[in-house]
Amino acid sequence: MTDYAAILETIYADVQPLLVQGKVASYIPQLSEVDAAQFGMAVYCLDGRTYSVGAAGQKFSLQSVTKLFSLALAFSLEGDAIWSRVGREPSGSAFNSLVQLEYEQGKPRNPFINAGALVMTDILSSRSTASDTAILQFAREICDRQDIEFDLAVAQSEHGTAHRNYAIAHLMKDFGNLHNSVETVIDSYCRQCSITMTCTELAKAGSFLANHGTIPWSERQVLDASSSKRLNALMLTCGTYDAAGEFAYRVGLPAKSGVGGGILALVPGEMAIAVWSPGLDETGNSLAGTYALERFTSLTVRSIF
Ligand code: GLU
Repeated sequence: MTDYAAILETIYADVQPLLVQGKVASYIPQLSEVDAAQFGMAVYCLDGRTYSVGAAGQKFSLQSVTKLFSLALAFSLEGDAIWSRVGREPSGSAFNSLVQLEYEQGKPRNPFINAGALVMTDILSSRSTASDTAILQFAREICDRQDIEFDLAVAQSEHGTAHRNYAIAHLMKDFGNLHNSVETVIDSYCRQCSITMTCTELAKAGSFLANHGTIPWSERQVLDASSSKRLNALMLTCGTYDAAGEFAYRVGLPAKSGVGGGILALVPGEMAIAVWSPGLDETGNSLAGTYALERFTSLTVRSIF
């Protein structure tokens, strides 16, 4: 049997030299204050076994990892109807780019770039007066913890500098692909992005996606197996910014990253893995986190390929 505890210890030692090399995201002022030289990693196996190392119990800002939650929730509620409003192709440009939106009549390339995530928030805002609360409740359910919260200081900090996201939302509104007010959607989006979790919590939260859409401990089916497969496919092709090809080459797992330095990766049918290290590489993915996942799939010989 694979000795995951020993493998995580090996990875922890291996990543140490990298912890001083990444750069924390600075365009959200609150995130710029985080110490880059931190690292945590947790594995949640579908049978409930968990393994962790380093700062796996430290809360961090999930940021774009929450795009997975809003997509899963919107997809579970609306089904294929969401694809009339968002595409399923890698964007090949920055996560907060406006360029393609102009050419593609306000339809974002995929749900993991900001434009696409704003459309998911809009869909959820049309169904509920407080889409941020709906996403938070969902996050609590999939990680089996009622104390998961927003970090309102981070949400406010992002809101104060969200000029690009406002521009994206206004452009989509002009094209008719935003049904609620720009303010409603941006407010909800900034709060959603500010949700904090530890690696241990995030690995558990992702486990339903490794388990064909069903939460392992409650057996509630969030997504049917086919929808879960599709969401995994989007993670592989679009989940790690404009480096999804390189990430698939190096790691070989579906994953979603965020500028807070977190990455959630899945081994379908087996486990979810969360890693956090706030120093980012030039593509916006956690530098040590990506390397840790690469080592994990090499040492365990587990990937989807
Ligand atoms: N809240 C961040 C933004 O919209 C999320 C970015 C990210 O993690 O990729 O800029």
